[in-house]
Amino acid sequence: MNESTGKLFDEDAYLTEFTAGVLSCETFGDGYRVVLDRTAFFPEAGGQTSDRGALVCDGTEAQVRDVQIDEESGRILHLTDKALPEGGTATGRIDWTHRFDNMQQHSGEHIFSGLLCGKYSCDNVGFHLSDQTVTMDYNRACTAQEIAAIEQEVNEVIWKNLPIEISFPTGAELEKLTYRSKKELSGRIRIVTIPGVDVCACCAPHVRHTGEIGLLKVLSVQNYKGGIRVTIACGKRAFDHLSGQSDTLSGMAKELSTAPEEVPGQLARLRRELTDCRRRMAVYCESVLLNRLRTEPAISFRDERAAVLFDAEADAQAARRAVNARLEEQDGLVLVFLGDDETGYQYLIGVGGDHADARIPAKLLGEKLGGRGGGSREMTQGRVDAARELILETLKHVD
Ligand SMILES: [Zn+2]
Repeated sequence: MNESTGKLFDEDAYLTEFTAGVLSCETFGDGYRVVLDRTAFFPEAGGQTSDRGALVCDGTEAQVRDVQIDEESGRILHLTDKALPEGGTATGRIDWTHRFDNMQQHSGEHIFSGLLCGKYSCDNVGFHLSDQTVTMDYNRACTAQEIAAIEQEVNEVIWKNLPIEISFPTGAELEKLTYRSKKELSGRIRIVTIPGVDVCACCAPHVRHTGEIGLLKVLSVQNYKGGIRVTIACGKRAFDHLSGQSDTLSGMAKELSTAPEEVPGQLARLRRELTDCRRRMAVYCESVLLNRLRTEPAISFRDERAAVLFDAEADAQAARRAVNARLEEQDGLVLVFLGDDETGYQYLIGVGGDHADARIPAKLLGEKLGGRGGGSREMTQGRVDAARELILETLKHVD
């Protein structure tokens, strides 16, 4: 039982149902590990997840959760949820939706890598294909424009519906052939050729014609280990991604009562308006607070005149400017509390002149009301979660 498993996917990527002899079945983790004499299940290899599906034998249907290859023996191991009888004949069924999705992503990668590496003399040094993402790593930094141009070319190759050919050249033929390969290969080499686009050693299932990929969309490009990592989506994944983005854009256009193509301009206009609004609001806020600090009755805090102000709406920056402006006009203490009784207050305490110390009322708020804060003699800031009346009482009744 040491011979390698026959790889039906090598010759026919479209085979979705097959029969095979069950050579062995042993417990493995919480399931079983089944070896067949041949299989159409593609194992996890070269950064690509394995096929899924089912194996049926003598009325038992076992789900295939994962497929691995034992590199040494060449045996393919099907990890299942149920045991299958050794010596029986199993019918294997490949989850075609999952397989075809992998074939679309993987074949798209060949075109992208073939064009990019051909044009810029670089290598594809990493590939990852899971159910969520497809990433490709290259050992050359590329500009966004270069990637956009390659993406355009890839889609033109897809629409030309070129054949994707599988061959097993002899050693002599291989010596004359220029092809991409991620590692040193030995034994029978499987060559995947897209005429005029890519020649690559690869063992995975591919679509027969580039048109079946449908579409390739670059989702992101990041700098990675001195080169780049490109994330792509092909086929249905690309369609689903673009559909989602289209829905988002339509939603934004509806919210802005405009056409989708007007959204960027509208957002830029709204941002400008918001910046302008904030600026004007800050000026207005500062002048209102300063006016209140001038006119509202002050209290006496340890023989110092103390202007105390509560405000629910003003922001801290405007309050700080108002406090500084008031302190230039008059010596003493200025205490501003921003917030309300429910959510508590953010406070700012400033000092004008040489006598008072802003840290003293801050310390009092800490001791009596659990306030937290800090700063210098001239200015302290912090938080106190207490009601306005209690804060005023605490400040007024101090020895
Ligand atoms: Zn391939």
